[in-house]
Amino acid sequence: MSVEPRRVIAITLFAVALVVFPSSVNAQNGGTIDWPRYQDMAVDLMQQYLRVNTSNPPGNELEAAKFLKKIFDQNAIENEVFEFKPGRANIIARLKGNGSKRPIILLSHMDVVTAEPASWDVDPFSAVIKNGSIYGRGALDMKGEGLLHLMTMIILKREGPLLSRDVIFLGTADEEVDDIGSLWMIANKADLFKNAEYVLTEGGDNLLEGNTVKLVGVDVAEKAPFWLKLTATGLPGHGSRPVADSATNRLIRAMNRILDWETPVKLLPAVEQFFKDIAPLQQEPLRAQFQNIRESLKNPDFAKALSSQREFGFLLRNTISITMLSGSKQTNVIPNAATCNLDVRLLPGESPDDFLNALRTVIADPSIKIESVNRFKQPNSSPIDKELFSLIARKTKEKHPGAVVTTKMLSGYTESQLYRQLGIVAYGWAPIYTTPEEDEGVHGNNERITVKNVREGTREFYEVVRDISR
Ligand SMILES: [Zn+2]
Repeated sequence: MSVEPRRVIAITLFAVALVVFPSSVNAQNGGTIDWPRYQDMAVDLMQQYLRVNTSNPPGNELEAAKFLKKIFDQNAIENEVFEFKPGRANIIARLKGNGSKRPIILLSHMDVVTAEPASWDVDPFSAVIKNGSIYGRGALDMKGEGLLHLMTMIILKREGPLLSRDVIFLGTADEEVDDIGSLWMIANKADLFKNAEYVLTEGGDNLLEGNTVKLVGVDVAEKAPFWLKLTATGLPGHGSRPVADSATNRLIRAMNRILDWETPVKLLPAVEQFFKDIAPLQQEPLRAQFQNIRESLKNPDFAKALSSQREFGFLLRNTISITMLSGSKQTNVIPNAATCNLDVRLLPGESPDDFLNALRTVIADPSIKIESVNRFKQPNSSPIDKELFSLIARKTKEKHPGAVVTTKMLSGYTESQLYRQLGIVAYGWAPIYTTPEEDEGVHGNNERITVKNVREGTREFYEVVRDISR
């Protein structure tokens, strides 16, 4: 409530700043860029963006789209807002290239998950700066990245070289719930971006230890959620007279067989690369085992030990977590139905039908009904032998000598999956370096981004996009 007036004041100040600081004189990029000035702007805009409450549900991304539109308009960057449902909107903005290369899309979702103010140290939409960090829901997921995308558009427009490709900013609604924003864009406006060569979006996973960047993970693949509901039915009755094959008993037997099932270990190329890259960070004998991961996994004991570790198991196999359970509402009533839900995550390249058939065999009880309870998103991945990947690796090592740059497959989902279906190479990467403690703020409490990340990330992200678009 107290947020709105502050935002208006900040926008006014920004408009004044524009007058004082006229746009590009460095069109050929030969001149020097006044970085401190852009970095101040980045911090100010980060705070303004975090104050736009796009908690989803309900989303209300139209407010964020209007906020971004105003900035694009002030910078004479061509843009369009699509309000596809009341209050729900996407925004696309474009810097034209000469067309010698296919476009790059900077993709961010504008919605954020909800926040429980009572569990935060500060108002989740205040964007206050405390101990060097800007606090706000979405600071890491993913308005922080959206801000770097926005700053890159502004700086490219004012200072950048002649572009070989279009640079497209795409801000979408509803990633955190149902992807209706991206799905709408792909169904209705794909002509605006489907010829792109690259998407850069969330999913990168970087590790900061103290002040040292240890690991930079470029997300090239994600697992696919394949959520299932199992229903057993059977004779109901009074709890005092047991039914041997009651719904609950049969469901529990099925769940036991699922728990005992070790889904096969599979080593995808991106995952093999990941183990090799992180090998130097390990102690022996793990170092040598990771270095030769394909060979090591042929040892069943090693494969079993590694794939049962929480940190690594999901990289190597389709996983199953039993999550929801229901039976009778009363202790003395044997129900006629019992259900459980499984959070299944498939590796890229897997077929849900094949998985279902294997699961049916494991359960070995045809009377148990299995149904899918989510919109299945086909798992996919992007190749790593691309110019953008090597550029990210090179620039990162220049800025952070000693950092390991590697491929990442996420256990979770990102919208990269949707855009890869159009034939676009999609990577999750941003030069935002966080400690494990800071990562807990993602979908958790006290989400925050360091001012240092905003300032230095602005330059680091800009330079990669500039170089890939020369
Ligand atoms: Zn996100």
